[in-house]
Amino acid sequence: MKNKKVAIIGAGASGLLCAIVCAKKSLHVEIFEQNTKPAKKILVSGNGRCNITNISTCQEDYFSDNPSFVKNALENFSFNEFEKFTSSIGLVLEVKDEGKVYPLSNEAKTVATLLENYAKNLGVIFHTDSKIRDIKKLLQEYDAVVVATGSEAASHLGGNSDGQEFAKEFGHTIIPTYPSLVQLHLNSNAHAKMSGAKVDGEVTLLINNKVSSLNQGDILFTDYGVSGFAILDISQPASESLMNVQSVDIVVNLLPKYTAQKLSAHLIKMSQLNPHASILDILHALLPLKIARTIIDELTLPHAALCSEINTKLSKKIANQILNWKFEVNETHGFRHAEVSGGGVNTSEVNEKTMESLKKKNLYFCGEVLDVLGRRGGYNFAWAWASGYAAAKAITKS
Ligand SMILES: Cc1cc2nc3c(=O)[nH]c(=O)nc-3n(C[C@H](O)[C@H](O)[C@H](O)COP(=O)(O)OP(=O)(O)OC[C@H]3O[C@@H](n4cnc5c(N)ncnc54)[C@H](O)[C@@H]3O)c2cc1C
Repeated sequence: MKNKKVAIIGAGASGLLCAIVCAKKSLHVEIFEQNTKPAKKILVSGNGRCNITNISTCQEDYFSDNPSFVKNALENFSFNEFEKFTSSIGLVLEVKDEGKVYPLSNEAKTVATLLENYAKNLGVIFHTDSKIRDIKKLLQEYDAVVVATGSEAASHLGGNSDGQEFAKEFGHTIIPTYPSLVQLHLNSNAHAKMSGAKVDGEVTLLINNKVSSLNQGDILFTDYGVSGFAILDISQPASESLMNVQSVDIVVNLLPKYTAQKLSAHLIKMSQLNPHASILDILHALLPLKIARTIIDELTLPHAALCSEINTKLSKKIANQILNWKFEVNETHGFRHAEVSGGGVNTSEVNEKTMESLKKKNLYFCGEVLDVLGRRGGYNFAWAWASGYAAAKAITKS
């Protein structure tokens, strides 16, 4: 009997895994990649270390208009199954904080190289520098076509909306897309003055003036606004709300270890113990200099103002500025800088067990092209692997 012919569009995480699982069952697999080399996003992921998955994944780790869609695929390709797969290709993993998993080598290149070489050794044919434009032609030539084209995030690495355009050709609907795990732009005069200063702080997201979420972690001021893990972690609801023309603000707490009372008591104490010190120096003992200077500006105090001027009223004002600094968010840093995208191919039109289109037989979708967005911590790759595996299993069985 003739071996089934499978075409996979996209040599990223989901496409490579799908190709390997299909080729292991002796299917004829060809993978088409527009870039000159495969796996560009894997190579830069996790700051070059690749947070390859998370040991525990569930529906709640994902955002989608159809939240239960991910359940089946994630359960069928749990961390145990994934680890069996990675050890079969020689990839050794290490579990770190919060269940985040990395290659033991600590280098993303290991992941990309092993996946590509293993696929090639199984006979998968790679067509690099090959952008697919006509999916209907591909469907005539192959028994199954897998759309593993990813999302619009990070266009310099190949991010685009081709997969959604392919889906539309078969009557699929698209859930509106927006950048996520992305930096935020602020409407203020202060952030640029603090560019480069970083704190381990707390950020509260307000949507239409109501608290939406609170996150702790790095907050890095930049010339356009804010970056850092605490910001990336709130970027999904922030970006989706901006797309829906809602008002978005953040309240930054630069010193979460202090309460307002403790901080103003500290400032009053300084005014008594060290009245000739400048307020700037005292603030610089708590915060990076650029931030301390900007706080002085925001409170319209002279830079040479002395601690002796701190009374109860001023101490409360300074504490409030440090612990409750509100900024208006006016846009995100855009798809170009985003790690992932929200929205995508409507998953209610895709079989959750097989990833096959409910509109077109033998057409499959996997990875980020679908309306599935994971939170930070390895969840996006976890989805790419799990959905690529589900598609491959279905193709090899049918
Ligand atoms: C900077 C950065 C860091 C990240 N770090 C992490 C991390 O540490 N952990 C994590 O879980 N996630 C991380 N992600 C997200 C993760 O990379 C993606 O979720 C994942 O790669 C999605 O896999 P995919 O197979 O759906 O798409 P991709 O990996 O994007 O692959 C899609 C491929 O399809 C190709 N393609 C597109 N259109 C066509 C076409 N018409 N013809 C041919 N080829 C085409 C693209 O060039 C691309 O190679 C990161 C993303 C970025 C940008």
